[in-house]
Amino acid sequence: MRIGFIGLGNMGLPMAANLARAGQKLIVYDLNRKVVDKFVEEFGASPANGLESVAENADIVITIVPTGKDVRRIVMGQDGEPGLAGSMAKGKLLLDMSSSDPTGTVALAKELAERGIAMVDAPVSGGVRRATDGSLAIMVGGGKGDVDRCRALLDIMGGQIFDCGPVGSGHAMKALNNMLSAVGLAAAGEALIIGKQFGLDPAVMVDTINRSTGRNNATEVKFHQFVLSGAYNAGFTNGLMLKDLTTAQDLARATGVSAPFTALIREVYAAALAQYGPASDHTEVVRWQLESSKVKLGKK
Ligand code: NAD
Repeated sequence: MRIGFIGLGNMGLPMAANLARAGQKLIVYDLNRKVVDKFVEEFGASPANGLESVAENADIVITIVPTGKDVRRIVMGQDGEPGLAGSMAKGKLLLDMSSSDPTGTVALAKELAERGIAMVDAPVSGGVRRATDGSLAIMVGGGKGDVDRCRALLDIMGGQIFDCGPVGSGHAMKALNNMLSAVGLAAAGEALIIGKQFGLDPAVMVDTINRSTGRNNATEVKFHQFVLSGAYNAGFTNGLMLKDLTTAQDLARATGVSAPFTALIREVYAAALAQYGPASDHTEVVRWQLESSKVKLGKK
């Protein structure tokens, strides 16, 4: 079986590398030809000249690109460019591991099903670190038989696979997870700023929180590493975070749920993005909080 892999970015590159190391035969594609050439040189995969060759040569095609709109463009084509679907034979499967919006995923899966092509959504959590060590949490949506076809691949890339329900469920789960993750980071930033102004040492605060009930993923794996260090290079951009928060807010609206946390946290990240741009790191939301309150987290 050959696997098409589209999107060799911060996440896709280490995920594809793990598949290649595990002996999977990959045909890889990215808009950025340089990353394709580098990957092929290092891992011996086949390079694809375009989407058509991925569609024709792969049994399962994995996408991990920025947005659901990018996935739609890749699959259905746009502006006269053909997409994968035009050359994918019946019985093949699209495995979208991007954090796409669930409504778009449900629509795309329906269009593909009409052509006899299956779709599974399997977005991931754990960042570049867990993409690299193959321990991602993977949130899966799709029919059981279709998910079973992907399971061996998911097991290589992930540490835990969660069956969330029908197609689109993984994408809904992911947007809601990221809403919580965004809250955890910004709420901890706020706590550190208040503590610093009172006279607490931010590094001691993070250590204390991490052995106390206020800890969260950001306090455990982001504050010392990317915030207090001043590195702000976790590898997940503010543009992508804002996309996920918009998806969470759209989900709240579509389901008729009043969601004040979601609305507020989206505004906070939107303000950080307005300040530093979409390519800034999501951890720079704390930099924005610091600058807005004219506080520095350096030691007293
Ligand atoms: P990235 O921007 O680093 O990489 C995206 C890659 O996709 C790039 O190499 C780009 O050239 C390629 N690409 C874009 N459009 C394309 C197209 N039409 N055809 C072919 N290639 C195309 O993004 P990333 O950080 O790797 O994130 C990818 C997805 O994973 C996003 O949906 C993101 O929300 C999600 N995600 C990211 C992280 C993280 O920590 N970075 C964690 C979990 C989930």
